[in-house]
Amino acid sequence: MPNADLPICLPESSGLKRRSFMLGVPTALMSSALPGAPPAQAQTNIPASSTTRTDIPTRPWKVAFEEHYITPHFDIDRHGGTRRAHRPTVYRNLLDVDAPRIEQMDRAGIQYAILSLNTPGIQAETYPQTAVRQARFANDELRRIVERHPGRLGGFAALPMHDPTAAADELERAVRELGFHAPLVNSFSNLHTDNTVTYLDDPQLLPFWERVQDLGVPLYLHPRDPLPSQQLMFRDRPELLAATWAYLVESSTHALRLITSGLFDRFPRLQICLGHLGEALPFYAWRLSAVYARRVPHSKLKQDITGYLGSNFHYTTSGFFDTAATLEVMDRVGLDRVHFSTDYPWMDMVEGGHWLDTAELGDDDRWRIGRGNAIDLFKLNLPPSA
Ligand code: MN
Repeated sequence: MPNADLPICLPESSGLKRRSFMLGVPTALMSSALPGAPPAQAQTNIPASSTTRTDIPTRPWKVAFEEHYITPHFDIDRHGGTRRAHRPTVYRNLLDVDAPRIEQMDRAGIQYAILSLNTPGIQAETYPQTAVRQARFANDELRRIVERHPGRLGGFAALPMHDPTAAADELERAVRELGFHAPLVNSFSNLHTDNTVTYLDDPQLLPFWERVQDLGVPLYLHPRDPLPSQQLMFRDRPELLAATWAYLVESSTHALRLITSGLFDRFPRLQICLGHLGEALPFYAWRLSAVYARRVPHSKLKQDITGYLGSNFHYTTSGFFDTAATLEVMDRVGLDRVHFSTDYPWMDMVEGGHWLDTAELGDDDRWRIGRGNAIDLFKLNLPPSA
């Protein structure tokens, strides 16, 4: 049963100890796998004057929050078989929410991972009543998973966007009673038929968004594949679906629907997280603004269209371990809006962690992207970078 008194904060011991440990250890030694806990004597090696920027360890003890899982309950495909039959390695990792995953997190230098149900999750349910029931079930299951790993795993709520009031209520329950950090929605939701969908800019969802803003949590907008009826452009090229390219088209368009609907003028404190460095939107900002202004000369939006990219969106490096692209996004939207994540297990968690640890970034920036920004965004009870 959910317990409203249960703390959502993290134990502060491991982060502090790990950081103290690293402060006393030469950088070269930190490239090997990190131990679960520092040896007691290591803490005596902390230099007394370790407060200058040059003392910031190169390897942040990271927070990651586009990290996916599934349970046997959700591992059933439309034909009654298991999804894992098609992608055995990925699904084995999705289904693992215990020791092997924590071990990978140690190797990747990730202290805390916020888990989300693998795409499309609840969004693919056709009937609103089923979606409401399944979302509640998923969130209760996830609560039991994160309870087993305090200080290492946290939860994002799955929501039945098919029913705006139920979605708002389930979000509030997940945040207040289950201790979850935010919702993650896998783009559009099916509605009654396989070919009818609802997007998050539907006016019926305004009360939902009001509740999101009141709760003070961001919403992670994650991709899913377009409906089969919308896949003509991928005909004979199925390899371009999903994360290769179709996700980018789906999510960036969905984000632009939110912006152009005026949602952020109505609820200016709303924050949306986008994965994959913003699904190309930051790179396209200049042209978006220029062409939109030409096509909608009397727009009622309060900001230039891409102004919202710097005021209402956050960006993760999930599945996009490229330093030049990360620097470009930082330059476009501001350092405090860029966050580390890996997109595990669709991408290699250890590769992602190693990339951030060794990328040509200043150590201060590396700690902000790898840890400090996420602590601020989700108000985590963890010590900051330095
Ligand atoms: Mn993902």
